[in-house]
Amino acid sequence: MSSRYCVLGNPVKHSKSPMIHQAFAAQTGKPLAYTAELAPLDGFEAAWRAFCESGGRGANVTVPFKQQAFALCDTQSLRARRAGAVNTLSLGQNGRVFGDNTDGIGLLRDLKACEVPLAGKRVLVLGAGGAVRGVLEPLLNEAPRELVIANRTGARAEALAADFRDLGTVSGGGYEVLSGRFDLVINGTSASLAGELPPLPETLFEPDAVAYDMMYAAAPTVFLQWAQMRGARTIDGLGMLVEQAAEAFFIWQNVRPETAPVQALLRKTLIEG
Ligand code: NDP
Repeated sequence: MSSRYCVLGNPVKHSKSPMIHQAFAAQTGKPLAYTAELAPLDGFEAAWRAFCESGGRGANVTVPFKQQAFALCDTQSLRARRAGAVNTLSLGQNGRVFGDNTDGIGLLRDLKACEVPLAGKRVLVLGAGGAVRGVLEPLLNEAPRELVIANRTGARAEALAADFRDLGTVSGGGYEVLSGRFDLVINGTSASLAGELPPLPETLFEPDAVAYDMMYAAAPTVFLQWAQMRGARTIDGLGMLVEQAAEAFFIWQNVRPETAPVQALLRKTLIEG
């Protein structure tokens, strides 16, 4: 009998997670049913409990519920606790709920696959929301020379930098305080969703810089177009999406799927519409 999993979010119809997990299941021979489930904005926990009662074993969690998912867990991984957010829920045999956060490892694996160096580099992260909180620890573990967080609401970036200062040289503030050039700029804002660009200085990139947008779409995002015109190598968040899903699949099934063919399948589907 196949185990049941889902992605819980609002909205969730657009989610690529069902396609990714079905592809992992086919590749690894694990029988698994995976669906997208819309949770009411005021009813996340009830939706998760109902899914478990109907035989569900685990769920991915997407906007805007990652913090609520964290709160309902009986136990969380260290990395989820550091992030203060959970994107992977697992129901144990004893009925206890375990929460993990695979966004950070997803980004790191994709950066490694794309051969983007981090050690000794100057890194800029744009945004101070849930996604950014989840990626700071793994980024800092790679020992960049400096990590700067810039956000529209500068105080949120300052607070985030203070939370992670024990892990490296981190500072945060509004876009107006940005100075100097960066080797890697990661856009973790949701500005790309609205086709908007954060107010960035013209002289942002070192000569061999990489621009990474956590968002992905059929065409390059506004941020990636802007970065490409200024000489940066560009990467979108499709690889991160597949890698974070692979880590969730590993948590549930104890098997690590191959990500490259699934990424290629997803890219093809995205381009063909
Ligand atoms: P949140 O809502 O938690 O945070 C949004 C962030 O974007 C805030 O820092 C906000 O600033 C900033 N922001 C929003 N609009 C603008 C704008 N017009 N100009 C400048 N800054 C803006 O979202 P998440 O952190 O959960 O997600 C952020 C992005 O990351 C999304 O695009 C999401 O799709 C993507 N993502 C991708 C993943 C992947 O696997 N590829 C995984 C997780 C997320 P302020 O604080 O001032 O409001």
